[in-house]
Amino acid sequence: MSALGDRLAETDARIAAAAREAGRDPVEITRIVITKFHPAALVRELADLGVRDVGENRHQEAQAKAAELSELALRWHFVGQLQSKKARQVRRYASAVHSLDRDSVVDALANPAADETLDVLLQLNLTDDPGRGGVAPDAMEALVERILTAPGLRLRGVMAVAPLAEDPRRAFARVRAASERLRRLEPAATAISAGMSQDYREAILEGATHLRIGTAITGKRPEPR
Ligand SMILES: *Cc1c(COP(=O)(O)O)cnc(C)c1O
Repeated sequence: MSALGDRLAETDARIAAAAREAGRDPVEITRIVITKFHPAALVRELADLGVRDVGENRHQEAQAKAAELSELALRWHFVGQLQSKKARQVRRYASAVHSLDRDSVVDALANPAADETLDVLLQLNLTDDPGRGGVAPDAMEALVERILTAPGLRLRGVMAVAPLAEDPRRAFARVRAASERLRRLEPAATAISAGMSQDYREAILEGATHLRIGTAITGKRPEPR
C-alpha cells in the first residue's frame, strides 16, 4: 500500500481503538481528512482509498479543488474562517460549514431560495483571545437563535479547536458541556466536530462525532500558495 494508504489505515485503527476505550461504536464517528494546501491529485488518491469526507479552510482553494474533482462523490467540509462576501459561493460546493461564529456569516449563508439545506456547526472559541475564530461558549445561545431562524441552514452541532496551551481533554470537556447546552435548544444538533492530528483520541473520549485530521494522514503540508 502507499504511504498515504498506510497512514490512513493506521489513523483509522487508532480512531477505532479510542472509540473502544470510550465505550463507543466507531461507526458513529466521521473522519474528515483535511487536505488544505495539498493538490487536487492528493484528494483524488484519498478518494481512491475510499475517503468520502474532506475538509478545507480557504474558500478559493476549496472551490477550485471541488470543481476539479466534481465527478468524485466527495463531501466537502468548510472548516476555516469565512468572510460574509464569500459565503454564498461556499454553499455551492460545501456539504457542511463548521465555522459559523458571527451573525454576519449566518445572514450571508442563509438562503430561503436554496434547493438544499446546508449543514452548519457553531464554532466555539476555547481561548480568551477574541481574535481566534469562534464564539465564547457563554455567548453561544444568541448565535444559536440566529441560526435556528435562518432559512436554508440546518444546525448540526458545535465545532472547536483545542488551545495549544491547555490539556486537550479538559478543553474538549468544555466542548461537550456546550454541546449539552446546545441540545437543550436544538435536540437534533448532536454533532461535535473536534480533534485534529495531535488530539483526536482526547476528542473521541469527550464525545467527538467528527474528527478533522490533516497531517497525520496526508503527511507534512506543502507551503500555502
Ligand atoms: C488544518 C486544520 C485541521 C487539521 O490539522 P492537523 O493538525 O493537520 O490535523 C483541523 N481543523 C482546522 C480548522 C484546520 O484548519
